[in-house]
Amino acid sequence: MSAPALLASLVAAAGSAPYAASPPTPGPNIVIMFVDDLGYGDIGVYGGSHPTPHLDRMAADGLRFTDFYVAQPVCSASRAALLTGCYPNRLGFHGALGPGARHGLDPGETTLAEVCRSRGYATAAFGKWHLGHHPPFLPVHHGFDEFYGIPYSNDMWPLHPDSVDLPAGAAKRKRGYPDLTMIEGDAIVDPVVTPDDQRRFTTELTERAVRFIDAHHDEPFFLYVAHPMPHVPLFVSDRFAATAATDLYRAVVRELDWSMGAVLAALDRHDLAEETLVIFTSDNGPWLSYGNHGGVTGPLREGKGTTFEGGVRVPCVMRWTGTIAPGRVCRLPMMTIDILPTVARLIGADLPARPIDGRDASALLLDRPGAASPQPAYFFYYHRNHLEAMRAGRWKLHFPHGFRSMEGRAAGSGGRPGKYDYDRRTGLELYDLESDVGESRDVAAEYPDVVALLLELAEVMRGDLGDRLTERAATGAREPARLETEAAP
Ligand code: MG
Repeated sequence: MSAPALLASLVAAAGSAPYAASPPTPGPNIVIMFVDDLGYGDIGVYGGSHPTPHLDRMAADGLRFTDFYVAQPVCSASRAALLTGCYPNRLGFHGALGPGARHGLDPGETTLAEVCRSRGYATAAFGKWHLGHHPPFLPVHHGFDEFYGIPYSNDMWPLHPDSVDLPAGAAKRKRGYPDLTMIEGDAIVDPVVTPDDQRRFTTELTERAVRFIDAHHDEPFFLYVAHPMPHVPLFVSDRFAATAATDLYRAVVRELDWSMGAVLAALDRHDLAEETLVIFTSDNGPWLSYGNHGGVTGPLREGKGTTFEGGVRVPCVMRWTGTIAPGRVCRLPMMTIDILPTVARLIGADLPARPIDGRDASALLLDRPGAASPQPAYFFYYHRNHLEAMRAGRWKLHFPHGFRSMEGRAAGSGGRPGKYDYDRRTGLELYDLESDVGESRDVAAEYPDVVALLLELAEVMRGDLGDRLTERAATGAREPARLETEAAP
């Protein structure tokens, strides 16, 4: 397709995303289960070999996306995007926050919880937060009535695999990791999370979720269940011990599937299936260096920490009985940043006052005639502050950047990682994702007009959110909140 024809088709698509006539009254309950580092190829309905009957059933009863994206291939940035509807770069969020971080999500940002609360919804977050672990940044100060969970990743603790085999007497703390804590509200309720505690994570968070549904079944609610699994270190309850004895990752995925089933069963028990939009997805692709303790990407290239499809394209299944037709498969791109404006539309809430990047996808979910992708024209793949790639329709253009890969390397096993090759580089490479989802054949030389057009569009984004690869400063980015120096804990 020539550049003018491509541009014309993109503009036409951009103009064809209609709103539903009016939001339903009252809007649906919203349940989001956001798991950690689950690969595109890990669950049955995406071709995975792990049995996931509840998720497969959920897809049969609802909608499965083939082209669903997170905004960055790493935990904190990805979570910031889901909960604010913004590219994380717009919020000053990049990468993953460690225990030494002194910043967090700015209270001036509007979260999905606050959007729901503005319509009288009860709200709860159970699981991993990772948007700032200091009290002012925790979920209960970002629109959630309740929070129970861990402040950041479950491997940010003294038992990190890089530190357990040090000689006797040596410091056992990976980069000074303190004990991992369990938080309720904005207070630490368990100062030392142990391996036994981690074994109970998935069960305990599921029980919290079910209790929340039981307590709020007669009023609108937003429930955010952010399981720490299957991020390493992997732990599973005794219920799946037999599977774990031979394949721990498989057991962890089975337990997550069980968790989704338990939440769906609670909704069904209260006759809420027709009043609840349920979304299951993952925060980024699998951590490939962990080998048999990490997931798989199916046909996609690379994984977590890269902007190849395996890092950012994730499974996504939605169920809303009676509203979303059963068994649908959507092949149009949608991103986590589209969830907030979509929910806002569905429940009749105002959008945040500050500019956001996501777009309403309610017409797509509801399968309205002519519904288009909420990101119809083009969207961007940032990693940290690097604009590494963009997609427009079938085309994905990588800008020259370095990346890590396990190709040709010995994978890790048993919870210990292999070593990435960090010296890999991609040039200015164009891929046709319709015919080459594995990004294996660079066609830039065959489509110079497409490359030229996408380069032009990327320049606009660089001027807005910046790009360290080309040394461009952002003009449209905001700052995260920071602790005062003297307020150090
Ligand atoms: Mg993750």
